[in-house]
Amino acid sequence: IIEAHNITKFYGDLRVLYDVDLSVEEGEIVGLIGPSGSGKSTLLRILDLIEPANGGELSIFGIDVARERGRWLDLRRQMGMLFQRPVVFNASVYDNVAMGLRYRRAPADEVDRRVKEALEAVGLSRCIKSRATDLSGGEQQRVALSRVLVTDPRILFLDEPTANLDPGSTATIEAIVTQLNREAGTTVIMSTHDLMQGQRLAHRIAVMIDGTIAQTGSSSEIFHAPKNRRIARFVGVQN
Ligand code: ATP
Ligand code: MG
Repeated sequence: IIEAHNITKFYGDLRVLYDVDLSVEEGEIVGLIGPSGSGKSTLLRILDLIEPANGGELSIFGIDVARERGRWLDLRRQMGMLFQRPVVFNASVYDNVAMGLRYRRAPADEVDRRVKEALEAVGLSRCIKSRATDLSGGEQQRVALSRVLVTDPRILFLDEPTANLDPGSTATIEAIVTQLNREAGTTVIMSTHDLMQGQRLAHRIAVMIDGTIAQTGSSSEIFHAPKNRRIARFVGVQN
C-alpha cells in the first residue's frame, strides 16, 4: 500500500533522511522506532504528504506521488494522522470531531451519529459539550483520535501518539489502534520511542538511526539479533 524507495530529505544543508526504503503491506502495523532526531517524524510527514521529499520514489495506493501531485488531496483524504502533541481547536469536543466529516460534506444526521460513536469508542461521551482546549492532554489526544476515526482512513499515521500521556489514555489509544487494524483492516504506521509499545502493537518494526532505516524485522529479531552496535545500543537502553 506504500512503497518508498531511496527517500531523501534536506532541511537547508542538513540531510535528515537518506536512502530510506520502506514498503508497507495493506493491513500491516509497522512500528518506527529510533532515537530522538533520527528522522521518524520527518519520514511520517513525507509518507503522509504533509511535505515533499527531495529525492527518491514514493507510491501510495499504487500512485506515484511525485508525478501525480494533482491527486494529493484525494490521497490525503484516505489517510489520517495523529501527532505527538494533540491538535485540538478552541471549540466543543463535538465540533472538533465533526470537523473531519463536515469537511467531507457528510449529511448532518450521519455526522451526529458517527461523532457520538467515535467519542463513545474513546470513552469521552461525557465530554461531548466541553471545550476541547480545557481537557487534559490524554483527553485531547483521544479527541484528536476520534476526529481521525470518523473519516475511516485506509492508512493511519501515528507520531508518538502516547508520549507524555497518562496510562489510561495510552491503553485506550493502543486498544483502538489494534481494533481498527483487526476489524477494519486499517494499515498503521506508528513511530514510538518505546520498543515495548512497538512490540505490543506492531507486526513489524523498522529501526531508524541517523536518517535511515537500519533494520526491519519482528521485535524479537531486533531485540535478540540487532544488526549493528548502534541498534544494539538503542535497544539496550530500553531494557
Ligand atoms: P523525536 O524522537 O525527537 O521526535 P524524530 O526521530 O522524530 O525525533 P525528526 O523530528 O524527524 O526526528 O528530526 C530529524 C532531524 O531533522 C533533526 O535533526 C531535526 O532537528 C531536523 N528537523 C526536523 N524538522 C525540521 C525543520 N522543519 N527544519 C529544520 N530541521 C528540521
Ligand atoms: Mg518525532
